[in-house]
Amino acid sequence: MEGFPVVFDRCPCCGSDERLVEKAKAQIKSRIPDKHKSSLGMQTLLVPPSLALLQTPLLTTALDICAKCGVMYCVAANVEMVMISPILNKGGRSGSL
Ligand SMILES: [Zn+2]
Repeated sequence: MEGFPVVFDRCPCCGSDERLVEKAKAQIKSRIPDKHKSSLGMQTLLVPPSLALLQTPLLTTALDICAKCGVMYCVAANVEMVMISPILNKGGRSGSL
């Protein structure tokens, strides 16, 4: 998607580039699989769930905490097309089609 990914490499408050999650992960690097992304983040469905098709745009936002001043901020944001499973929510039943 145009304009993505967006990367913020410094704290918006103090300008430091030291981050707590990144720092902690570096210290236990040998125990983290290569594909593992930050566990601190948000995923936002860009369309209402009722309109979501199988291929749906998802905004993925990685967050981290400034090691100098403690502010939590967005480090990177990207829009990806993901496959979702429709959920039936009629009559108390749920599951994928
Ligand atoms: Zn800071």
